[in-house]
Amino acid sequence: MNGYHGKLLEVHLGTQSIEEKPLAEEFLKKYIGGATLGAALIYSRIKKGMDPLDPESPMVFATGPFTGSPIPMVSRYAVCGISPQTGYWGEATSGGTFPFRLKGSGYDAIIITGKSKEPVYLKIDNEKAKILSATHLWGMDSYETQNTIKKDSDDPKMGVACIGTAGEKILRYSCIMNDEGRAAGRSGMGALMGSKNLKAVAVQGKIKPELSNKKKVRELVKEAAANIKKNVSALVLRENGTLFYMDMGLTLGDTPVKYFTKSCFDASKVNAKALKSNYTVKTFACQGCLIGCGHKIEDFKPDIKTVDGPEYETVGAFGPLCLNSDMDSIILAHHLCNTHGIDTISAGVSIAYAMYLFDIGVLNYENCGMDIKWGDSATIIKLLKMIIDQKGIGELLSSGTLAMARKFGRDEGEAAQVKGLEMPMHEGRAFHGEAISIATGPRGACHLKGDYYNVDFGEIVPEYDLKPGDRFVSKGKGAAAAKYQSLRELFDSLTLCKFAPYSVALISQILKNITGWDFSAEDLLAAGDRSMCIKRAVSNKMGLTQEKDCLPDICSKALDEGATAGIEPDMDIMLQEYYTYRGWNFDTGWPFREKLEELGLDEVAADLYNG
Ligand code: SF4
Repeated sequence: MNGYHGKLLEVHLGTQSIEEKPLAEEFLKKYIGGATLGAALIYSRIKKGMDPLDPESPMVFATGPFTGSPIPMVSRYAVCGISPQTGYWGEATSGGTFPFRLKGSGYDAIIITGKSKEPVYLKIDNEKAKILSATHLWGMDSYETQNTIKKDSDDPKMGVACIGTAGEKILRYSCIMNDEGRAAGRSGMGALMGSKNLKAVAVQGKIKPELSNKKKVRELVKEAAANIKKNVSALVLRENGTLFYMDMGLTLGDTPVKYFTKSCFDASKVNAKALKSNYTVKTFACQGCLIGCGHKIEDFKPDIKTVDGPEYETVGAFGPLCLNSDMDSIILAHHLCNTHGIDTISAGVSIAYAMYLFDIGVLNYENCGMDIKWGDSATIIKLLKMIIDQKGIGELLSSGTLAMARKFGRDEGEAAQVKGLEMPMHEGRAFHGEAISIATGPRGACHLKGDYYNVDFGEIVPEYDLKPGDRFVSKGKGAAAAKYQSLRELFDSLTLCKFAPYSVALISQILKNITGWDFSAEDLLAAGDRSMCIKRAVSNKMGLTQEKDCLPDICSKALDEGATAGIEPDMDIMLQEYYTYRGWNFDTGWPFREKLEELGLDEVAADLYNG
């Protein structure tokens, strides 16, 4: 098989058993890789309404056909399972060098079930897999864990993905860290790992699958590199990282302010210029990337020499969302999240909600033992430490905004989340295509599949008739956003970085010459549609219905200021269009049986409808 090893590693931590299983080419052709392959592996192993923290709840680490190849910007992996944060489908991706090591270990995917009695970590070195004791690692933060495993293995280049102390405590939005400060951040995959007493997955290896046409792949590497070189966004990302977007986002009303209740904020202290002017900023690139959008702050404090990041989402969440202009505190918050392994977005949104609740008197000194004032940077750090330590009001904040709203009997529309996953630092009011994408994202409120603003900014995808339109118009956006979401699904299945400026035609050529498979533009879109449907089916099996495909009121009712003043997306019209494109039943929120069968998901259809 080209592009793949054709092998799955199945690990049961309860019985401490490890088994190698074949992955058939037809199966891989249908699901491609990444979290889509994960969804296909997981679907048959879950039971209706399963508790995400049930020991038998499966989790998958997966790469894709592009991972490890010489094509630029393909060092990504996915980790997925039932989200402890939402109870529905959960997934996260990360870059760095870990994905290449994972692929080099000789497996396309690892599926992990069961719960170990004692803390363990999984080590795979060139197809040799072992479950090793992690009792000496338990209690270590994510940096110490990575360094210790590398030292223990006498291999400084060992790829390590691990949880910090938050994952050990099964903090609902804890994440998985690799390559020092790279995070598979969203939907609580760190909690899933922690619930299994699995501290880390350490991988190494040089096993490379064959490429279908090496010579042509070499030519495509040049074509991809030329695309990156002439791409304006790539240049901006290289210079400023994702934080370049802070000025634009605030100008366009796309960066939320004061817990989604405002739109205007002075960007000058929290933008890329402020970061570069006031700190020693170095760049970080994932393996094989020609952009390098990552940041590292050097010599941050005497006791914190290096901080990985911060990126736009983190600065947005701990900055404008909390009315905080103090960059020092934002960088420190980011470092604490990296160190202990928690999702910066969910943490920042939960803290901003606490500020909102204090402001309206629901929280007060008596019931939380402290004052929580907008923009108070010391309070942000204090609350974050309380979240990490699960102390005082921090314990409630660590459950996220939906749990907070329920605890105080507030309207759930006040919780800035979709399906239990906190909103990213984007505004559906600013781009209506983004509103419907975020409301229907496979893992909940998701910036990585909700980025329809790219189209309104000027991205044209002629194969799918996607072209820029009026960002404030809802009509026609439902189907268009669904198609773009499917294209982004495909990027994740292939493990292609979302910033890779590759056309559908180029992607098709890369896939053909790595795997030998001929995928037309329609086939690629169908692969994205299939991915959306199987993840949806997992969530449906967990109880997801149509009512959850919405934006909370706090994120959709019109604001009184800024670029989006008076504007509300028309969710009803877009949802109808979206469901029609997807072939999903508007009454149940399930994919129609015929749609599942049309996409080749016959077994899923039979299980969902008969099981
Ligand atoms: S653009 Fe950024 S996230 Fe993407 S591959 Fe490059 S460094 Fe990694």
